[in-house]
Amino acid sequence: MIHEYRRPPAPEAALRLHLNENTGGCSPLVLEALRRLTPEELAYYPNYAELTAACAAHFGVRETDLILTNGLDEGLLATTVAAFRDRTRPGAEAIIVQPTFDMYAACTEAVGGRIVAIPPRPDFAFPLSELVEAVSESTRLVFLTNPNNPTGQLIPRSAIERVAHRLPRGAILLLDEAYAEFARETFIDQLGRHPSLLIGRTFAKAYGLAGLRLGVLIGDAALLAPIRRVVPPYSLNVAAVVALQAALRDPAHVENYVREVDESKLLLYAACQRLGLKYWPSSANFVLVRAGGNARRLVDGLQRRGIVVRDRTSEPGCDGCVRITAGIVEHTRACIAAMEETSCDAQ
Ligand SMILES: *Cc1c(COP(=O)(O)O)cnc(C)c1O
Repeated sequence: MIHEYRRPPAPEAALRLHLNENTGGCSPLVLEALRRLTPEELAYYPNYAELTAACAAHFGVRETDLILTNGLDEGLLATTVAAFRDRTRPGAEAIIVQPTFDMYAACTEAVGGRIVAIPPRPDFAFPLSELVEAVSESTRLVFLTNPNNPTGQLIPRSAIERVAHRLPRGAILLLDEAYAEFARETFIDQLGRHPSLLIGRTFAKAYGLAGLRLGVLIGDAALLAPIRRVVPPYSLNVAAVVALQAALRDPAHVENYVREVDESKLLLYAACQRLGLKYWPSSANFVLVRAGGNARRLVDGLQRRGIVVRDRTSEPGCDGCVRITAGIVEHTRACIAAMEETSCDAQ
């Protein structure tokens, strides 16, 4: 089976609840900063010094312990390239815990690595013993997502530590914290204790900057060194640079959005209860809902009403499941109204 990311189609003007974007948009300070860009600034290669300092301060790490990337996706690819660079080791492997973000398998295959997939436990409980068992001398990279996409489940902190300790020398534990702002939880404070630990963050989700492509890798400078050599020197464009500097000056915008998402999730849970749909309480900005045999009907019914959600029925453990982004409350109410109408559609 070939693993590749397929961009899900979305009709224009639809309410996008399928890619976990910020449905309210970015901070207005970002637009002001973009408008102030001059022709000369666009003509020159970007300077990253100020943004690197601002990011380091934001995450509470040293500037030498982070790499800015063109979206976290680029960080994932660069990490995979670096982790598999030693061609003298045949059979090198990356471990993923199913179900999870598609890019890990796509990146691993792109560099000729072997994927070891840990199947899900009931209700997506973290399969720690299976994962620890799967680690071997061939393990180059372990991908963990906290909270996980598409399940919204958090990994126990002790489990992350256990995996970090178990890795063979030179292997990397990539902890993808794309949704950390919604969970209000991060492992960044533990970095000093785990030299193999690399944390990935993105400004695509809570910050509403998916269109500008902004991510960051955080880890010990020695762990980052081979990855730094993979990331192109001018990977972030100048619009992204000024945008993120402005966004970091407006933490209230993100805090307000996270509160909207909290309320939206509660509304979605209540709607699922009324409609008799199983769901998994989520620490991220989306909810995985089990519609069973009605999953396709739900996705199509919402689409006819101008709302796009993500069909996850073919993901391991996600039989009959649909993933719905929880954005600003007004959008969530529109989605719930459409879900209720759809449930009355002719069977
Ligand atoms: C959205 C997402 C990303 C990608 O982030 P970008 O910065 O948009 O490339 C990475 N990991 C996970 C788990 C995601 O859901």
